[in-house]
Amino acid sequence: MNLWMSNVRKVTPYVAGEQPQNKNVVKLNTNENPYPPAPEVQELMDNYDADIMRKYPDPDVTKLVNALADYHGVGHDQVFVGVGSDDVISVAFLTFFASDKPILFPDITYAFYPVWADLYRIPYRTPAVDADFRIVASDYEQENGGIVIPNPNAPTSIYEGLDFIEGILKKNPSSMVIIDEAYVDFAGESALKLLECYDNLLIVRTFSKSRSMAGMRIGYAIGRPEAIAAMNSIKASINSYTMSHIAIDTGVASVNDDAYFKKTVAKIVETRENAKKRLKEIGFSGPDSQSNFLFVKHESIPGGEIFKKLREKNIFVRYFSKPRIDDYLRITIGTPEEMEKLYTALQEIISER
Ligand code: PMP
Repeated sequence: MNLWMSNVRKVTPYVAGEQPQNKNVVKLNTNENPYPPAPEVQELMDNYDADIMRKYPDPDVTKLVNALADYHGVGHDQVFVGVGSDDVISVAFLTFFASDKPILFPDITYAFYPVWADLYRIPYRTPAVDADFRIVASDYEQENGGIVIPNPNAPTSIYEGLDFIEGILKKNPSSMVIIDEAYVDFAGESALKLLECYDNLLIVRTFSKSRSMAGMRIGYAIGRPEAIAAMNSIKASINSYTMSHIAIDTGVASVNDDAYFKKTVAKIVETRENAKKRLKEIGFSGPDSQSNFLFVKHESIPGGEIFKKLREKNIFVRYFSKPRIDDYLRITIGTPEEMEKLYTALQEIISER
């Protein structure tokens, strides 16, 4: 063994969903958007002058921060932009969770949360979601150093109403409560309006799902000015220039085309509602999804087996071999054509058995 090995920080990393190089795959495994980004984003890319790369980008990401603040009707000092919401949440963990008390997040949730907590040596507890995968509000009344709730939750796809979020904020005035709204555009109301009454709320959003820009890596947080200033101090202590010129400019272009954004989100919601019916007809059940994916299990065939057989047919979905959810598949909503391929493949798998 190399002698320096004993000084290496030990981590158990997050395992991201697979990105197959084969273009023929029906890719329903990482909750990407099947439609292209807004047309203005493409136009901008077509006309990009590489000379701009000689210069560092704006460390304050001013253009995109302002565009997002105006879009959401908040102050220009209330938005923090990062390299995908993974970066934003990671900075938020470092910023707000410096207490010795454990932070709280559900046991079945985004698997990156415990990884950041371990990396930053933040103690944590994971209250169990109930038998229907619902988060139990009273579990978040114990002493804590902070709270993270994704709404809708992933991979369960369940959205909780604002009363639920407000209850948690009210009970925890001395903890920062991060609401991860990666999927909220496919669900109901954002917790944004609660910011007026609660200074302990941080909302995190991403361009990766509803804005079709997972590959550009843009995420953001909205909070009170003091919270955003605290995050900016941490960010400036790690890396000043996180957002490239092209990410900033294409981000603004996306925000400017609200009609396209609403149209693509509506198409995905329509396909999702149809998918619920189609999957139910062939023996699947699961929570009533309010996101761009379904979390389903089959009445007789184990999840792991379906996952493997779909893969052999070049259809990729996500499978987590973890207690309580190892019978379930998480299936991203694709185009109607992609979904038809999925239904056909599933029918074949069921009838071959
Ligand atoms: N939060 C949740 C709940 C997610 O599912 C994801 C996607 N894996 C993210 C955050 C991170 O997304 P991104 O970094 O692409 O914004």
